[in-house]
Amino acid sequence: MANCDFIISGARVIDGSGGNSRHVEVAVERERIVDIGDCSHWRADAHIDASGMVLAPGFVDAHTHDDLELLKSPLVTCKLSQGVTSVIAGNCGISLAPLAAVGEMPPPFPLLGETREFQFPTVEPYRNKLKASPASINLALLAGHSSLRLGTMPDRLEQAADAEAIGLMQEALRLALQQGCIGLSTGLDYPPAEAASTDEVVQLAGVLREFDDAVYATHMRDEGDHVIEAVAETLEIGARAQVPTIISHHKCAGTNNYGRSRETLQMIDRARAAGQPVGFDVYPYTASSTSLLPQFVRGAASVLVAESEPHPECNGRMLDRIAADWRCSLDEACERLYPAAAIYFEMDDDDLERIMAHPAAMIGSDGIASMQTPHPRLWGTFPRVLGHYVREKKLFQLETAVHKMSALPARRFALRDRGSITIGNYADLVLFDPDTIIDRATFEQPKQTSTGIVSVWVNGKLSWHEGAATGARNGQFLTH
Ligand SMILES: [Zn+2]
Repeated sequence: MANCDFIISGARVIDGSGGNSRHVEVAVERERIVDIGDCSHWRADAHIDASGMVLAPGFVDAHTHDDLELLKSPLVTCKLSQGVTSVIAGNCGISLAPLAAVGEMPPPFPLLGETREFQFPTVEPYRNKLKASPASINLALLAGHSSLRLGTMPDRLEQAADAEAIGLMQEALRLALQQGCIGLSTGLDYPPAEAASTDEVVQLAGVLREFDDAVYATHMRDEGDHVIEAVAETLEIGARAQVPTIISHHKCAGTNNYGRSRETLQMIDRARAAGQPVGFDVYPYTASSTSLLPQFVRGAASVLVAESEPHPECNGRMLDRIAADWRCSLDEACERLYPAAAIYFEMDDDDLERIMAHPAAMIGSDGIASMQTPHPRLWGTFPRVLGHYVREKKLFQLETAVHKMSALPARRFALRDRGSITIGNYADLVLFDPDTIIDRATFEQPKQTSTGIVSVWVNGKLSWHEGAATGARNGQFLTH
């Protein structure tokens, strides 16, 4: 008889593949899954009775800004409490590393951290810091294009990079990939990268080809009136650079653009049918959240000011009411409130459901932990998909939902030996109650744990149990 640490029995096991669930036992020894099926020939230190529960691979949050959060709040309760065991960080062009920043930072950098917190000129010291002080969950990092720009050409952000600057950014990106980054992200809709040409991005993304499985993830140049052109540009960049491409938090924003996900998904389908590796992530809400900027206000049905540095008395108020009180335009109100963050109600339910149900859709939260009043997606994304969209709305099956949160992102981002309940894989696992799981975070009360997540194991260690973190910090920095 062989020994193992624990056996989970009685659960309905959803392995992440998208296939049907099975009632099998799962045995874990140290940090790996060592058996699945009838595990009676193992001598286990502990037996866990999971009758009535679902056992799934720990969720992979495909889109996060948790670079700093893992260092500052290593229990990462907002994610661990949802069953998330790995996060993809460094998204939307703004990664904490590589960047040693000085002076005032352009939006959206302040959403990620303060200037003094960008203290990692290369990825290695960031990785070492996480290693010395691990978090409760795993993290894989994308190198941000805007971070590379700010580090390379801080005085010329409003221009396209010239050949020399592109060369320097390529070198910095190459080093970041050598030091463990899994790809490149861009945020072409934001001031530090708006001026970047398509060619600039193609030349940078071309570096990814030198590394196996490196990916290009993009917050596209436009998610509103020009979303079609933006998808076309993204597909062009992926095709010319010949790299796997991920459209971040895919949406069609603005009342003008309701329904246009039919077109964007068709474009993506055509590219995929032609053999281009393209995927996307999505969060399960019809409101977005980012810096308060006039360009994002136009087109939104309504805008909630989440927090303003100069006018904290306006936190939690609607922008149009503030502008009316001040007898000024929305643009001027934005200017007076800045630096500020906002929540934009700007999407259509049908688009959201169509995007989420697409076979290439992964679930990503896009939450921003530094905000006082964050978008509820930070705490609620995964239980909301499982409880609201699967159980209540029956948008797709539980097996499909788990696939979008585990094996699909693990494959897309090439996270080795993760994302499915398979013998030999890391024991990143979540046990939840399919009948009660639901998010509780709301726009008014966003910092709330969900209901129904029973236990979470990260690399074989019980890290969340019955409503609280165990204190285990067994997360790893994931590389290819
Ligand atoms: Zn973004």
